[in-house]
Amino acid sequence: MEELESKVFEELSATFENVACGEYESINLEKFMRVGNPSPIRRLATIMENVCRQFKSREHHLKIAVDELRTARAEMERFNALLDSRVKERTQALEEANSLLESISTTDSLTGISNRRNFDEKLSYEFSRSLRYNIPLSCIMFDIDFFKKVNDSYGHLYGDEVLRIIGKTLKEELRSHDIYARYGGEEFVILLPETPIRNAAKVAEKLRVFISKKVIEKDNIQSKVTISLGVAELDPEKMSSRSDLVKAADKAMYRAKRTGRNKTLMFNNTKDK
Ligand code: GH3
Ligand code: MG
Ligand code: MG
Repeated sequence: MEELESKVFEELSATFENVACGEYESINLEKFMRVGNPSPIRRLATIMENVCRQFKSREHHLKIAVDELRTARAEMERFNALLDSRVKERTQALEEANSLLESISTTDSLTGISNRRNFDEKLSYEFSRSLRYNIPLSCIMFDIDFFKKVNDSYGHLYGDEVLRIIGKTLKEELRSHDIYARYGGEEFVILLPETPIRNAAKVAEKLRVFISKKVIEKDNIQSKVTISLGVAELDPEKMSSRSDLVKAADKAMYRAKRTGRNKTLMFNNTKDK
């Protein structure tokens, strides 16, 4: 009898060890609780069965919590991806709006070339660069001759087309690092970095001849226009601000107007007071 008890006790101990190792799912404790087994064994088996039941219940709850956590994590990842794509969309839209704003604020809407504001910024840069490194800088200012008459004869829309063609000519005929802009109304300005006045005058003459030969056509109206140009070079002795260079080119241009139009004149200190 004692031998039997000790065998059952050993078996129960082995079962307990299995439980301690986490194998409580398939454990069968009923045989230890049978009537006939010594009561301490039955009692221990009952306690162990309660322990296993609690383990199972805890594990079940733990599984539910883990599942919930997984779902929450997946949702968070989805939300993050959505947020990420929204942020990217908004950033792109903002960048597009900014570059549109930038181009609107620096471009003349009629001709599509730079406006005066943009020109002034570039002039500031080139003016100081030229002074610092002692390199030549020339400016051409030109104005369409008798443009009022063009508008009066063919209408304002035709006049607009003339301005557009002049803008296009500058774009096509000048070198890529030359700076040009619609200065206002029917006046245009060109800045030629690293160019002395004589070379700038050649550029001006080339433009004058090119424009005077160009037939401008719109709505079956064909005509030609001429321009008067003034050229000046930065003189560090006499010009202290960027506007002095533009003013000098402007003065030469007005002398070209006064003395017959459709011509290029270089700034002359004595003649252009
Ligand atoms: P001048 O040879 O002395 O320069 O004579 P002009 O007729 O060209 O000069 P004036 O200053 O008398 O006239 C300039 C004209 O330019 C008047 C104005 O209506 C016209 N103008 C200015 N801006 C525009 C524009 O954006 N479109 C059109 N169609 N005309 C413009
Ligand atoms: Mg004019
Ligand atoms: Mg004018």
